Amino acid sequence: MEVAPGVHSIPAGSSKFMGMYAPNVFLVIGDRAALIDSGYFDAQTTGERLDYLMRLAHLKLAHILITHPHPDHIGGCWAIREATGAEIAIYAAGAAHLKNYGIAEDRLLADGETLDIGGAIIKVIHTPGHTSDSVCFYLEESGILFTGDHIVGFGTSVIDTPGGDVAQYIESLKHLLNLNIKLICPGHGPLIREPERKIRELIDHRLEREQQVLNYLERGRRSVAELVSEIYPELDERLVELARKQVQAHLTKLVQDGRVTVAGDSYILE
Ligand SMILES: [Zn+2]
Repeated sequence: MEVAPGVHSIPAGSSKFMGMYAPNVFLVIGDRAALIDSGYFDAQTTGERLDYLMRLAHLKLAHILITHPHPDHIGGCWAIREATGAEIAIYAAGAAHLKNYGIAEDRLLADGETLDIGGAIIKVIHTPGHTSDSVCFYLEESGILFTGDHIVGFGTSVIDTPGGDVAQYIESLKHLLNLNIKLICPGHGPLIREPERKIRELIDHRLEREQQVLNYLERGRRSVAELVSEIYPELDERLVELARKQVQAHLTKLVQDGRVTVAGDSYILE
């Protein structure tokens, strides 16, 4: 499906994903084409993506650009590379993580680098926070930003500790406010047509969550587990680990900021 001129959203299937939204896979078409992320590993959904690419008979897929090396964003990249000859390109810091999945990149990307696919120029923007090696891809001319999991189309992104970092996450969001973004194509969920509002909401959400953590610490909650049960009451068991990571990420920032000290498993307000 073409979601903007020269930008397609490709079905990534929903068979393997536990959450609400399957990963989004986008295709940017110029004289050559670039895939943004590659969805799941499984043969069926990878086959669906390949079918889509093959139907665009004129297409010369040059790049498979990875927003970050999480399994639901890199799966299938090897099979698509084999079938199309496209190069796998990832931000340099992410290459080691890619290797954990048995995948070798063809090209390392740097912050600020541009890729010219003829008729479209794709800029790499390092946006650490969800993970330390997350990047966004930006079509400056049309104001379209591909965000991976840095910004998702529903709710908020997970700060995936270790590696993820709340302070960096907020800084990365603030950096995006300097750009003239008209449309966000996120790693999961629907397209975001009011980018600035969404980005400001995400920053506000993190600052509110931080204040919440501070408030509970003030009331004598000390451990990650105590904070999780206060902040996320009646949480589905399957989401506890994610909630724990969020609270841990906020505590790490507060310790870095010198507002909280840590003694063993206890966090204490300064
Ligand atoms: Zn992710």
